[in-house]
This record gives sequence, structure tokens and C-alpha cells, in this order.
Amino acid sequence: MSEAVLASDSPSNPVVTVERGQRAVFCGLTSIVWLHRKIQDAFFLVVGSRTCAHLLQSAAGVMIFAEPRFATAILQDRDLAGMADCHEELDRVVEELLSRRPEIKTLFLVGSCPSEVIKLDLNNAAGRLQSRYDGRVRMVAYSGSGIETTFTQGEDKCLAEIVAANSGRTDHENPALIIAGTLSDIVEDQFQRIFDELGIGPIAFLPARSGDAMPIAGPSTRVLLAQPYLTETAQALKGQGAKLLNAPFPLGAEGTLLWFKAAADEFGVAEALFNDVTSAPLARAKQAVGYQREKLRGKRIAFLPDSQLELPLARFLARECDMNVESITTPFHDPQIMASELELFGDHPDMIEGGDLETRLDHVRQLRPDLTVCGMGIANPLEAEGLRSKWSIELIFSPIQGFDQAGDLAGLFSRPLSRAAKLEV
Ligand code: SF4
Repeated sequence: MSEAVLASDSPSNPVVTVERGQRAVFCGLTSIVWLHRKIQDAFFLVVGSRTCAHLLQSAAGVMIFAEPRFATAILQDRDLAGMADCHEELDRVVEELLSRRPEIKTLFLVGSCPSEVIKLDLNNAAGRLQSRYDGRVRMVAYSGSGIETTFTQGEDKCLAEIVAANSGRTDHENPALIIAGTLSDIVEDQFQRIFDELGIGPIAFLPARSGDAMPIAGPSTRVLLAQPYLTETAQALKGQGAKLLNAPFPLGAEGTLLWFKAAADEFGVAEALFNDVTSAPLARAKQAVGYQREKLRGKRIAFLPDSQLELPLARFLARECDMNVESITTPFHDPQIMASELELFGDHPDMIEGGDLETRLDHVRQLRPDLTVCGMGIANPLEAEGLRSKWSIELIFSPIQGFDQAGDLAGLFSRPLSRAAKLEV
């Protein structure tokens, strides 16, 4: 049963309707798949059940060829009296792991939803283990539980805890600008080059590639979000005195340009220098998107709630690819983080936060769009009904941010449509 609540009725903002009901979204443990690749000296120890272990193994199946940097400590059924054993067991697993893997510098203890894990206070456990391994490894606990998090919110919880764990440290210089949100190394390097050419710095990325290099914000630090699902991380950085810059997300030629412009304006970069630095990559991005636009123009698209990337992607596809966005549902909408996106996208008839699974699926069935962006679990049933789908998780795993990726981003949407057209011939 869904309950619709009007979230915003300000005449100047698009109306966002909150709808409650059943969801079908992966839990926050999924984000370990991209976080462990990014933070190269970290290990993610999930404290959970066999279900959690299976989820991780299947989501990160490619890792079977390498020494993995994640694992699941499985807790069997226990009552409260057995919780002392749980702590002992956790200590034993951690000891074994750290003696076998000296390269681990940060150990994330990741909570999950089985009741035994909820009873176990992981923050406490991390504190206890920290005093035992101080100087050897940094312990950080966060929750990836499906009760509290959708799959991208797992990253938000992780980064917010990294920020909190570093609060009060004075052994690092505060960077001028923090770029928050996991990006592929190739995108990070491109962004670093452009910021260098603009004369903005020192900049730092959160998460950094090693636990030691995680940035610490101060009152002179500015923050640009590279991913839209970082509500708690943004709050934590603001708590360290940093200022969050309002910008759309660096998706597409326009989004990327405005994202850099927000930083350039904040740091007083001259207009002429900004144009000099950005004009060539901007022209390349526009040309690459233009090629894909021919295949996307006039096609109808709908977004089911999954990643929180829904609105920035819809804005890019509508404004740069001439697609008709027919429906957007996002699992969680942060009006402050999305302010620039909403402004760019303008009024929209159908923007839903949360979403009841059956109601949203019925809506898609009525619309019969050319493409539906959705979670993996929903894609197959839609395909079986003759509706083309795109897994939103693919958009998290692919390098899609920045000027040089704008054409590839549009290509991720045109490919399933071209494939469908070929099958129909
Ligand atoms: S954390 Fe919860 S939702 Fe996620 S795999 Fe484990 S049991 Fe399932």
C-alpha cells in the first residue's frame, strides 16, 4: 500500500511527491564492490549472514582471480547471552586476518541487517580493536544494512564514517577543495589536470586511494560533490567547517562545465582562463554527445528508484540528448544537494521520492517507454514484457563523469535502443 505525501509545494520548485511502499533495491553492502577497488590498502569485513556473503560474492564475482579485500564474518543464530562470544569471534577473525595480510592499513567493519549483528555494537568493537592495533591499522565501522541503506547509500555511510574518524586530527593540511564521491582513477586524473590548469588547489579526493591520504576538511575547505548520494558525508564535512558548493553533477558536457564553473567562481578564476582551459574538452564532449543524440532524440525514458543518480541523468538526457523523460522516481531526494539539478531541469510533471514498487511498475507498463533505467532485479521482468531496460548499477561501475566520458555516457543509453531496433528488423 503506498502513501503519497506532497514534499514540496513551492511554486518556484518542481513538485516532488513522496510515495511510500515496497522497494526493490540492493543494500549498502553492494558499494563495497567499488569502494574496495578505490581504497587500495583497505579491507572490508562484513559482519553478517550467509545471505550477505552470497550477495557480495555474486556482486563482485570478478574478484575470484585475485586475493580479495573483502570477506564476511558469518554470525549464526545467538541470543543476547551469546553476544560475548560474538565479540570474541570477531576479535579472532580480525587477528587472523591482520596477521595474514600485513598490507591492510584500514579495516572497515561493515554492519548488516541480521538481528544478531544489530545487537552487536560494531562502533564499540571498532573502538576496542583500535586500541589493540593502534598504529598498525585504522578501524572504521559503518552500516551497510538493507534496513538503513540502498546500494549507493553504503558509500555515503562509509565516507561519513571516514570523515568522522579523522575529525580532530591536526597532522594533515586541510585541502582547498575536496571532491567527494568515488570516481574511477581515469576520471580523477582528468579532473586533477583541469583543476591544476585552473590554478585551483591543493585538491583532494574522498575517498583517496589509500587510507592514509583521506582528506580532512577545515573552515577554508570547499567541497564539490562528484556523486549525488552523499547527504551524510556532506553533513560530516560541513561539520568540520567546510563549505559545500552548489553545482549540478559532472555528467555530460553541460553538467561538467557548470561543475567546474562552481569551483572556478568560488576560487576567483578569471573568465578568460576558465574558457581557455575548458573550451577544447567542452567542444570534444559536445561533439561526442551530438553523435549519440541522433540515436536518442525523441526516445522516451523512465527512471525507477535505485541509485539517486536518476535526476542528474534525466537532466543530461533531456537537455543534451533531446530524450523525453516521462517519469523519474528516486529512492531519496535531498533538495539541497539537488538544488542546481532541479533548477537546470526545470518543472517536471512526475518526480517521485521513494516509490512503491507495484505502483511504479504499473506506471511504467502504462507509459511503455523506449527505455527504463532500473535495478537488476526489475530488469528481467520488464524485458519479458517487451520493455527495454538499463541497469542503473552499470552507471555506477562505468566511468561516466567529465568531458571525456560524456559521449560514452550517452552511448550507454543509445546502445540498448540500437540493439532493440536491430532485433525488430
Ligand atoms: S545486509 Fe541485509 S539486505 Fe544486505 S545482504 Fe545482508 S541480510 Fe541481505
